[in-house]
Amino acid sequence: MTSSSLRDWLISRQRRWGTPIPIVYCPHDGVVAVPEDKLPVVLPKHGENLDEWKITTCPKCGSVATRETDTMDTFVDSSWYFMRFTDPHNHAQPFSKEKCDELMPVDLYIGGKEHAILHLYYARFISHFCADEGLTAHREPFKKLLAQGIIKGKTFKSKSGKYLQKDEVTEKEGRLVETSSGELVTTSFEKMSKSKMNGVEPGDFVSEWGITL
Ligand SMILES: [Zn+2]
Repeated sequence: MTSSSLRDWLISRQRRWGTPIPIVYCPHDGVVAVPEDKLPVVLPKHGENLDEWKITTCPKCGSVATRETDTMDTFVDSSWYFMRFTDPHNHAQPFSKEKCDELMPVDLYIGGKEHAILHLYYARFISHFCADEGLTAHREPFKKLLAQGIIKGKTFKSKSGKYLQKDEVTEKEGRLVETSSGELVTTSFEKMSKSKMNGVEPGDFVSEWGITL
């Protein structure tokens, strides 16, 4: 699979949480993968000393070696979780081929605009990789994509450019004005955001429609 717009996928992140990268650095053997029977690598808990955790032994020669401390990008997890969902209690494998083949591919992928590019590429890449490795029968993970776009909300702005809440605005002689100052208010539709005060208040919907779990 090739793409004209996807660059190399840099998966490492410098942070204390996330999925560990199972690599050890040995002064003799260089970069050594942690063998399967030593997986998973478990990150140090909060308060544990990272420098002590880093020190380990080389799986190849037994020398003192250091662990990789970067963790993986969360896209690595979101690229195959739907396959894990087909077999969530499997403690020996990511998923069994039989169960994955029974339910995959996903019938409908619904996502925002931002998912249509990066996540889709990464998920497809992992899916093609699993197919090449014989882990799954399917190559493409999603049968159909529905990009729902961005949901916008009505925005009220004062003359000075300040965002206003709906209840700070009143209609006067056919025009919208800021209630406190009487100044004209402009309206538009923008991407929903707390700072723009144009989101949907869940409480209002719950009181009007109720909620069922
Ligand atoms: Zn070694």
